[in-house]
Amino acid sequence: MILLDGKKTANDIKNEIAIKVASLVAGGGKKPHLAAILVGSDGASETYVNAKVKACNKVGFDSTLVRFNADVSEEELLAEVKKINNNSDIDGLIVQLPLPAHIDEMKVTETINPIKDVDGFHPANIGRMALNLPTYLPATPAGILELLERYKIETSGKHCVVIGRSHIVGSPMSILMARNNNPGNCTVTLTHSRTQNLKEITKTADILIVALGKAEFVTTDMVKDGVCIIDVGITRVKSDKTKSGWKLLGDVAFDEVSKKSSFITPVPGGVGPMTIAMLLKNTLVATAKLLY
Ligand code: NAD
Repeated sequence: MILLDGKKTANDIKNEIAIKVASLVAGGGKKPHLAAILVGSDGASETYVNAKVKACNKVGFDSTLVRFNADVSEEELLAEVKKINNNSDIDGLIVQLPLPAHIDEMKVTETINPIKDVDGFHPANIGRMALNLPTYLPATPAGILELLERYKIETSGKHCVVIGRSHIVGSPMSILMARNNNPGNCTVTLTHSRTQNLKEITKTADILIVALGKAEFVTTDMVKDGVCIIDVGITRVKSDKTKSGWKLLGDVAFDEVSKKSSFITPVPGGVGPMTIAMLLKNTLVATAKLLY
């Protein structure tokens, strides 16, 4: 079994980006600049945004964090998005999701200029992804592709089963794995909460990508020998064995399933760190105006 080390790979990518930024700036170019909008003070969102800002600083990007109280009006939030769209110094914009219930997330996403949509969530960019045109790929699926590529995992002709059909992970992942690309060219089965006989399907997977958010859901009886496992899930559970009193679990029962797998991502340290690295990569692409 080979562990897909997302932490190390993400650090490699960040170092590569830092070198590119240094040479961009040395050549008289501008520093990439990422803006993030955070609404409210949800603990997880706060942690994610802070990690993104910290990562920007590490690779030499400029970053701007715009905060709003949870009761901000949709109108005010949309006005800020438009202001950033028109700010030529800012290359990439992300709005941390989820947003409070009174704000229409899709409306906010659609207001972001696709040229600055480094999360890759705008319908225009999702459409470009589906058509295999150059675009910003959503960061988590892009991180998974990067791991498959860097670990030289053969995907062509393989059966890839994806569990979960969210807009940010499962759905785009199923499209990407089916595209005529490397990684890609898989025969893909996208499964979800209404899927029947899930175990019969997962047992035929050469590559199993799991993103449903239920701790240790995939057990050894659900996979075949030699499977490649990508575990996207992150669930915080109480633990009396850690100082903090909690630990993170993936959607896969790692200890048992890893024994049957050829490759597997750990949680933490697998897909998670790759997500931020790919956001930085998208921002660099935005700065260099490589897409539009
Ligand atoms: P979500 O909660 O939006 O959707 C879950 C999906 O799982 C749904 O499509 C649902 O149909 C499916 N599902 C639920 N129960 C199922 C069942 N019994 N059988 C089959 N399918 C079932 O999911 P999400 O936002 O994609 O997040 C999934 C997990 O991935 C969460 O733990 C989340 O924290 C984690 N996540 C991690 C990263 C990262 O960077 N590592 C990024 C995004 C999400």
